[in-house]
Amino acid sequence: MDDTYSIPDRPAQPVVVTKPCHPISRQDVDPDALKIIYRLHHLGFTAYLTGGAVRDLMLGRPAKDFDVVTDARPGQIKKRFARAFIIGRRFRLAHVHFAGGKYIEVATFRRISDQAARETPAEESAPAHPYGTAEEDAFRRDITINALYYDVINDAVIDYVGGLEDIACRTVRVIGNPAERFTEDPVRIWRVLRYAARLGFAVEEAAEREILVHAHLIAASSGARLYEELNKDLAFETRPVMETLRRYAILRHVFGKAGEAYETDADLFVRLSSLLDLADGARAAGVQLTIEEMYAVLFWPWLQPLLEAAGVDYHKVLSDAFRDAGMKVNIPRNLRADSSQVLIIVAAMDRAMRTGRMRWSLLQRPHFGPAQRLYFIFFKGRLPEKDESFEALFRQAFPGGGEGTRRRRRRRSFRSRSNLE
Ligand code: ATP
Ligand code: MG
Repeated sequence: MDDTYSIPDRPAQPVVVTKPCHPISRQDVDPDALKIIYRLHHLGFTAYLTGGAVRDLMLGRPAKDFDVVTDARPGQIKKRFARAFIIGRRFRLAHVHFAGGKYIEVATFRRISDQAARETPAEESAPAHPYGTAEEDAFRRDITINALYYDVINDAVIDYVGGLEDIACRTVRVIGNPAERFTEDPVRIWRVLRYAARLGFAVEEAAEREILVHAHLIAASSGARLYEELNKDLAFETRPVMETLRRYAILRHVFGKAGEAYETDADLFVRLSSLLDLADGARAAGVQLTIEEMYAVLFWPWLQPLLEAAGVDYHKVLSDAFRDAGMKVNIPRNLRADSSQVLIIVAAMDRAMRTGRMRWSLLQRPHFGPAQRLYFIFFKGRLPEKDESFEALFRQAFPGGGEGTRRRRRRRSFRSRSNLE
């Protein structure tokens, strides 16, 4: 085990920054997270806010989720909070539920990772349980800026790993030896690049070198974990992250041939990039695309040429493309089916606008709404206004297409088993 990853024999003195030398205010913290922290404190436990919330609040950004970490064990939390539920098998943690389906994750301080723990000699090997101290918990985290604690009671930020310094010099630094940490969990490569991209931070040099060496390990990660990470990026600031993943040639290890296409064909990626920009912009304006829409956006530039060239069977084109791509990310079947349905209708709309023939029965399909929205994004570069529809666009382009034509066209398309499905 590399020294930089070992926890010192004696507890290191953390850097503790009190007001007014940090910008976090209790008012920025979710009131339910505060309640949990105060309650645990009252019961004699230590409890801090941690992870992304502290990082984002330190940077003056609004925090998304408020994770609490404590020295109380899951069983103790469950006993003391009526609405606490224990989740996770390997590492148990508590979800404390509040009104409206909301919950706060409350984790117990964890020891360094299992892998690193296994590498310690047997006689000093740690107890069977996975719990540890605040310091150990900080060291098992991925990057220094994600390992800060906010001590609400004393209004202080606690830093065991140099995260404050890295925030100041805008650097993403892996905790410990990057080669070891990436081998242990290659998904961390993705995470390093995500936070560098989202925050506009630099990746420290040693980590950058090891990313290039270890990137291929991502392909061997669990497809379910890759799906989890991908969803985080499709929900938030998608374009900068995808662009950074491409720069480090990570896309091929996640999306197989689709990723390769995005990495080798600059024009294709420019198209994807501008669509993701639109999705990010819509989100910033309060319009969040659904998950099946985001997956449809993600694959449209790659699939569009295949669909355009397709003769009859759009379904087959899509299922062949996904089958042959050798994707490592495990996209659930239902989600892929939904996104495919949306893309098939968009492709049909595109063809209709080129040929003047539309199969209007598509209007009845449950995926027509999302497809119409994406048609505007793909072909108009914007979301549709409230009173806009594909039908109006089509009728404007083909003014002869009144109701009669609509019925005639529908019959004709049935007779000829149109190739729009
Ligand atoms: P955000 O939710 O804003 O993307 P986050 O930092 O909260 O950022 P999560 O994925 O929610 O990210 O993870 C919560 C915390 O768990 C992280 O801040 C980090 O400390 C730790 N963590 C997550 N994944 C790993 C990992 N693979 N290895 C080590 N620590 C991790
Ligand atoms: Mg989080």
